[in-house]
Amino acid sequence: MEHFLSSDCCQHIPGFKGQTEHSQPVDFQPDYVYIPAVDNHGVPLGKMVAAGAEVKVGSALGERQDFCFPVYSPVSGQVVGLVKKKSTVVGRPVDFIQIKNDHKGERVYLEPLKANPTKADVIAKLSEGGIIGLGGAGFPAFIKYNTKTPIDTILINAAECEPFITTDYVMGLSSDLKPMLKAIKILLDTCSIEKCLIVSKEEKQELLDRIQKEVSKFGDRRIATLAIRSVYPAGYERTMISFALHREYQKLPSECGVIVNNLQTMMAIGALFEKGETVGEKVITVSGAVKKPSNVRVPYGALIKDVIAFCGGYTLDNVVLLNGGPMCSEYLNDDDIPLLEQVDAITVLKPNKFKEQPCLRCGACTAHCPVNLQPCEINFAAKRGDYERCFDLSIMDCVSCGLCSYVCPSHIDVSAGVKQAKLMVTLKVPRAMRKPAPAKPAAPATPAPAAPIKPEEKSGALKSGDVCEGPAIKTAMAEQAESRRIAGQDKKEGK
Ligand code: SF4
Ligand code: SF4
Repeated sequence: MEHFLSSDCCQHIPGFKGQTEHSQPVDFQPDYVYIPAVDNHGVPLGKMVAAGAEVKVGSALGERQDFCFPVYSPVSGQVVGLVKKKSTVVGRPVDFIQIKNDHKGERVYLEPLKANPTKADVIAKLSEGGIIGLGGAGFPAFIKYNTKTPIDTILINAAECEPFITTDYVMGLSSDLKPMLKAIKILLDTCSIEKCLIVSKEEKQELLDRIQKEVSKFGDRRIATLAIRSVYPAGYERTMISFALHREYQKLPSECGVIVNNLQTMMAIGALFEKGETVGEKVITVSGAVKKPSNVRVPYGALIKDVIAFCGGYTLDNVVLLNGGPMCSEYLNDDDIPLLEQVDAITVLKPNKFKEQPCLRCGACTAHCPVNLQPCEINFAAKRGDYERCFDLSIMDCVSCGLCSYVCPSHIDVSAGVKQAKLMVTLKVPRAMRKPAPAKPAAPATPAPAAPIKPEEKSGALKSGDVCEGPAIKTAMAEQAESRRIAGQDKKEGK
């Protein structure tokens, strides 16, 4: 099989988790929440709730048309109606269902999973519960388990390798893990899966020890914990599978017998199976340039600006707002945006002071790409408007890990350019022309020699569109590191 994971692509990068890793979740209930009234493709929900309807936590609001499963209310209160807000998944303003929170927190429950369930019962319950991946991807859990490919291992991803984010860490240390362990046992039994490994990074020994203690008490020898190298992107499925099991795959982990679930997702499955609870609240990390960095338990659909206000507001007039951690997420132009269910952090950074320099053709972005892409070549092709070439360069395999921006010595936000180009490929290259991309050659250590760079091509970022505009991730993080270093020195010097 083609070798996808570059052995030396992973980096140890600063975690910047000190602000919140010891912060127990604090509760925040906003006055209004906004739930997407469309699916991920912008298609309106079916069987949508009417304006004026009274809802409780767990009341159905409609049905997603892409995967045909229900969407549930995260609060109790009254449906106000539809309002337009920007969706970070669809990439444009779409209808959201506005709900006025009555702060009573009244809940309705589905039936818990029946005793002695079959695989079909489990799949049906995951679908009925509308469980999606809560670690960022938002992929429906029932589809992962409804596979005909033989699966031998479940990996629970507790690596949380993105800087700044600590939600899985604090949840893993403070939550009752028994419902999750019971759910794992049910999935192993019903889906004929041999084992489950709960995986985190070596540096999170306290978390691994706590989980191992609970696993030992639970007493199912098919479940174990595993420590993997503390590098980025250890939490990316391909890297995690390679580190934990020494396996590789082409498109989906199931090809090599593995299903990966995030820790919070498996906890949500535990609550669904045991109590019939649907996802209402989730814990997110709010950190960086905010007055009270915290892990906040908040209903999904809260506006980012309300959550920021709850955390004391920004500490700077000028900030870079990120919908997640600094490596993978998008820059937001606005904070009047609802938090989607799969978002696990809001990170606020100082704008950077570094200026982009021309590409040096050093090959660092290529050498560090975990899926062996040539990010600078993709960006140059995109600048020429040659999106078919972008497609041929396997752009659709980009996992938006941000490493190419992080390692670029010219401070070019390479990954933002690739992300923008990927969007353009989906818009400009007709589906019929998106022939299967040619087999990827082994990535060269340095990019192939290219025509001299014209002055207007000196930046790796695209000019058009604003989806990913903002300063380079690496430089914004470098600034944070620098201010922490100075703060540390000031402390030592008693300033
Ligand atoms: S963001 Fe995409 S192109 Fe850049 S290193 Fe990650 S996978 Fe490769
Ligand atoms: S984009 Fe940056 S990392 Fe990539 S080849 Fe150019 S200078 Fe090097």
